[in-house]
Amino acid sequence: MENYDVIIIGAGPAGLKCAEVLNNTNLKVLVIDRSKELGDKVCAGGLTIKGLKYLNIPEDLIEFKSNRILLHNSKKKFVIKNKKGDNYIFTINRKNLAEWQFEKIQDSKNICFLKETNVIEIHKDFVVTDKGNFKFNILVGADGSNSKVRKYVGLKSLNTLVAFQYILPVKYDDLEVFYMPKLFKAEYLWIFPYRNTTSIGCACDVRQMSFNQALENFNNFIKSCNIDVSGAKYQSFIINCDYQGYKFGNIYLIGDAGGFASLLTGEGIYQALISGEEIANKILDPCYKSKKLNKIIRHNKKHTWVFNQFNKFDFLLDQFIVIGNFLMKFYWLNQKIIKFFA
Ligand SMILES: Cc1cc2nc3c(=O)[nH]c(=O)nc-3n(C[C@H](O)[C@H](O)[C@H](O)COP(=O)(O)OP(=O)(O)OC[C@H]3O[C@@H](n4cnc5c(N)ncnc54)[C@H](O)[C@@H]3O)c2cc1C
Repeated sequence: MENYDVIIIGAGPAGLKCAEVLNNTNLKVLVIDRSKELGDKVCAGGLTIKGLKYLNIPEDLIEFKSNRILLHNSKKKFVIKNKKGDNYIFTINRKNLAEWQFEKIQDSKNICFLKETNVIEIHKDFVVTDKGNFKFNILVGADGSNSKVRKYVGLKSLNTLVAFQYILPVKYDDLEVFYMPKLFKAEYLWIFPYRNTTSIGCACDVRQMSFNQALENFNNFIKSCNIDVSGAKYQSFIINCDYQGYKFGNIYLIGDAGGFASLLTGEGIYQALISGEEIANKILDPCYKSKKLNKIIRHNKKHTWVFNQFNKFDFLLDQFIVIGNFLMKFYWLNQKIIKFFA
């Protein structure tokens, strides 16, 4: 059985970022992913300004950018602009992102890559895959919301969302967000445009509303807006927002496997990248103190609190949006609110 210093299971944004930081070190690293094509992931590809700045991706990878969001409540539409003028909301294509991340490590001397390889079982110091068994000193679980590694360390996931979307074969001009508490409680319906297509979707917290009910409300609502999804591709997957720690002996959890996504916004790409980077730094230096990781953990806690309040007082959500829109007119508050959500 071949031995590796570090095995990373999953080559999403978290696993690829972790591998990038471990590139050109003296560690022997193996990255395993079951998919044929990297980045083939159910995701709306929305990035906010912090994620874009952090990634520093080439301009041509950005599908859509805007300095405004059209925000709807049950009665009205509001234009939420960044008073600074800069774009603050973007979309990307997940396959292009994965390819761009992969390019950084594909010629690595210390990283081996196994695609189309499914991890079937995890043991104390080795993993069983459909291509053989591999021994590790350190294991990194970057295998997404349905993580086998997370299950192996005995964590349950309670704070999860079930998100679904249609990919429409048309391009919308604006990024739009609808808060409709009667239909979706504290969740929002999104319209995220790309270059030639558009994602229209929503998430559901099944503790608040059954998935079937949320999907039915969603379908009825988009029908009432004359949005035709007959030629669209339907996709659905869970988002794990239940962070309960990242280190379990010689096993680390990053990205959705670690529950790093936001319960309020469903955003998880940025958190996946940060956790991937910071856990790699911890592997390289066990004394490394990660300010960035602590920051996203604290930020997610605030998001969870706000999400719970939105659910508890959903009858006030329409008014809350009116007040939020008013506050956004003041530069300082405008920047604070954008920083909190984006
Ligand atoms: C409908 C929907 C819309 C979303 N929209 C957004 C958005 O707009 N913005 C945003 O920031 N986030 C969004 N998210 C969340 C985002 O997709 C995740 O937070 C993000 O992908 C997490 O990255 P990750 O690297 O942790 O995991 P993933 O991207 O899920 O990658 C996990 C990898 O592990 C591999 N893998 C899994 N199991 C195994 C196994 N047993 N063996 C081998 N390989 C395995 C998979 O093939 C995959 O490549 C959305 C999610 C959904 C479901």
